[in-house]
Amino acid sequence: MTTSAATTSAALLVRTPGAGFERATIARRAPREHDVRIDIRFAGICHSDIHQVRQEWGSSRFPMVPGHEIAGVVTAVGSGVSRYRVGDRVGVGCFVDSCRACEPCLAGEQQYCQRGMVLTYNGRDQDGETTYGGYSQQIVVDENYVVRIPEGIDFAAAAPLLCAGITVYSPLRRWQAGPGRRVAIVGLGGLGHMGVRIAHALGAEVTVLSQSLAKEKDGLRLGADHFHATSDESTFTTLRGSFDLILNTVSAPLPLDAYLGLLRLDGALVNVGVPSEPSSLNLLSLIVGRRTLTGSNIGGIRETQEMLDFCGEHQLGAEVEVIGADEVGAAYDRVVRSDVRFRFVIDVATLDQA
Ligand SMILES: [Zn+2]
Ligand SMILES: [Zn+2]
Repeated sequence: MTTSAATTSAALLVRTPGAGFERATIARRAPREHDVRIDIRFAGICHSDIHQVRQEWGSSRFPMVPGHEIAGVVTAVGSGVSRYRVGDRVGVGCFVDSCRACEPCLAGEQQYCQRGMVLTYNGRDQDGETTYGGYSQQIVVDENYVVRIPEGIDFAAAAPLLCAGITVYSPLRRWQAGPGRRVAIVGLGGLGHMGVRIAHALGAEVTVLSQSLAKEKDGLRLGADHFHATSDESTFTTLRGSFDLILNTVSAPLPLDAYLGLLRLDGALVNVGVPSEPSSLNLLSLIVGRRTLTGSNIGGIRETQEMLDFCGEHQLGAEVEVIGADEVGAAYDRVVRSDVRFRFVIDVATLDQA
């Protein structure tokens, strides 16, 4: 039976840290009892792909096939699969398994698995194999780590929701972005633009804090109510004590005391961007307004599904630039320069073309 056989898949692969991409053929396991095989249609390019390909976050596993923003169609299911059928529109995000037994896993917060989640790529699967991600035409994943993409969102716009979307949705929900709440989104990149769309759809009053006013029109079009440049010192006096929640999506180090000063009593500054250097602050910045400085890491499977359903209901996808397999190297350089509106997605069908 063809559905139960192992397959090979065209993929984009990097052999050594910082090397260029090359086309390759990788093996995908035969679907096990609870696995689904997915024909990938689009894979988003996340900034963390670049860090891992260039080995900027400690040791990476090579060869590497990056990609953890995956959207596609189920083409085969194992005998025990109950949630999905052939033809279903599905997505896979940053992890493809976890221990399933620790407290976070049992609570559906697999992203905080105490034994470490199995990353979609640059990870080690339960069977010891290196995981290969979405810059490929097929992937095989346990159905419990697969989510459903609503009909209303096309695959290219949906792919970035699997990392960028859930990374901002989870903290926006946890810190109650909604009617009557003032939310600031720091940075208007891949994460930030989805932060604006989702916070707006949740009913919050949304402000973008960006280095300059260059993206102001985009920010307002995406749903922001206000837009301020952080390069303008007066921003920090004008907006002092304004926000219930500041969601920081940039990885450049922030002057934390200045940003904390923008929070109201009991406000929270939530970080999802990762600076390469340790940060410092004056604890008085927390004490004077009973403020919270915290972070958030993607989201669990249940919440990722909730996010996709929410985006389907509100017709929210990512704004993307679709590229072919040969353009990924150039796209990486543009992402590093923040020269993308707002996410690159790879049309993996182009892996077929010589
Ligand atoms: Zn990512
Ligand atoms: Zn666990």
